[in-house]
Amino acid sequence: MSKTYIQWTNFSWHFMKGCLKVSPGCKYCYMHRMMDKDNPSLVRLMPHKRMLEPYGLPAGTKVFVTPFSDFFIIDGDPWRSQAWIVMKNCPDIIFQILTKRPERILQCLPPDWGPTGYPNVWLGVSIESQAYVDRMITLSKLDTPERQFKFWISAEPLIDEIDFLATPQLQTAFEKMDWLVAGGESGDAPEGTPGVKYCYRQSDSKWFNQIMTQCAQCNVPFFMKQLGNDAAKKLKLLDKKGGNINEWPSRYQIRMWP
Ligand code: SF4
Repeated sequence: MSKTYIQWTNFSWHFMKGCLKVSPGCKYCYMHRMMDKDNPSLVRLMPHKRMLEPYGLPAGTKVFVTPFSDFFIIDGDPWRSQAWIVMKNCPDIIFQILTKRPERILQCLPPDWGPTGYPNVWLGVSIESQAYVDRMITLSKLDTPERQFKFWISAEPLIDEIDFLATPQLQTAFEKMDWLVAGGESGDAPEGTPGVKYCYRQSDSKWFNQIMTQCAQCNVPFFMKQLGNDAAKKLKLLDKKGGNINEWPSRYQIRMWP
């Protein structure tokens, strides 16, 4: 278990590491960057003591589950059931799960998930552009009248516009969401810079503005994580990733919780 710099959580639970890229949002994946020389595409179980780390955390701790992997990746199937047991046995800890593979969630839920789910689990999808907004629809299909777990979206790195209200079906799904985190991409240099492997892409403040407006319209709590390198450069911020809320234009200084 390790402390984390991620603004929306308290601890990172790395019982498994490694992942395969699935969509453009993965292009400059921070895990691939940090494990660059250690075969980041190989999904592996970490030392067993890591699986048990949540048992030692204080009540109320928010835990990001497998930040260096995708909890629902098929290669993680042998270990996921143990992680569910730990989550069930730590009802006072909040487990934040994020996936780009929501089509695998249903088959990977624990047998006793039931209509309520585990109330201490926040189940989320990453969406980087309109092309992947259907991940939210797949997630929303897990809804039940008795649902106690939370739905959330991470729109980071936001690399294009997302209109969550583009169709009635999307709007119905969006209105079920309990939280949305947004953020711009971070990297070493603008995309296309010769010799630089981990880059950041351009962002547009209009993309963030639209998401904020739609969250307000549908009563979805909004959390701005970071503006990203491109916006930080345009705004001449000291924090290169645009992660210091105190430097932001006031309209973006919003960090709400479910
Ligand atoms: S799904 Fe997440 S962890 Fe896996 S490659 Fe993509 S960005 Fe990285």
